[in-house]
Amino acid sequence: GEALAVSARVAPLGSRLVLLLVEDLTEARRIEAVRRDFVANVSHELKTPTGALSLLSEAVMDASDDPEAVTRFAGRMQIEATRLTNLVQELIDLSRVQNDDPLEDAEPVRVDELVAEAIDRSRHPASTKQITMAAGGTADLYVWGNRGQLAAALGNLVENAVNYSPARTRVGIAGRRIAAPGGDLIEIAVTDQGIGISEKDRERVFERFYRVDPARSRATGGTGLGLAIVKHVAASHGGEVTVWSSEGQGSTFTLRLPEAGAVRDRASAGRGPV
Ligand code: ADP
Repeated sequence: GEALAVSARVAPLGSRLVLLLVEDLTEARRIEAVRRDFVANVSHELKTPTGALSLLSEAVMDASDDPEAVTRFAGRMQIEATRLTNLVQELIDLSRVQNDDPLEDAEPVRVDELVAEAIDRSRHPASTKQITMAAGGTADLYVWGNRGQLAAALGNLVENAVNYSPARTRVGIAGRRIAAPGGDLIEIAVTDQGIGISEKDRERVFERFYRVDPARSRATGGTGLGLAIVKHVAASHGGEVTVWSSEGQGSTFTLRLPEAGAVRDRASAGRGPV
């Protein structure tokens, strides 16, 4: 709106340069606002567990002659401490994926290994809820990229699928190669039979700290950073992540990443004489 108003004023002068400058300033202001929001969000998210911890430690001191109460408060302190640890770990992951060039130490990464690792990471919560996890189509597929970052991305998608699904449902992970003009892509789709995501929320779930249901997310130790990390990893690898969902039926998150062979062929083609 601001840029438009100014451009209307400068248009008669025919000065395209001024218009570009104004757009640049608007973009700089937007980035600054995003940064401020982020710091505010982090502060808020840190305050919740630290505030709870300080109240609980006071409660423990007051209840020193009631061992049962002490045990109860200590249990809640442990939950808050875990929440804090998760948040700090995810902040570290986020800053790592934003600052490191993933392709600096890129290598061909086996998809079945990534999938096995992701399944392993969610094994405990899945078995508690009797959720079965099954993978298919992942043999002989290789993606090109940073192993640690790719594992974090897929791990987050599987973790969410388990977290946002009721007991005794199924989480499926399917891999396949798809032909694309710029080189083959590898698609890894994580499908759940969970609560689903409304159309309005689907656009926003990849934003940092956005949660459809903050209480539910916190109850499962969620930070609201997972999908932001996934999106960043996908983009920095030259890929993308998309979501399909039907409310109350389930969701499918699909990662599309450059295939290892295709990237290598392209790179060596680029080195040759043109
Ligand atoms: P969180 O730590 O809260 O899980 P994410 O960034 O991973 O953060 O996800 C953001 C929000 O998107 C979640 O809080 C949840 O509301 C929604 N969401 C993510 N994955 C799923 C899924 N598989 N099914 C339903 N909702 C999901």
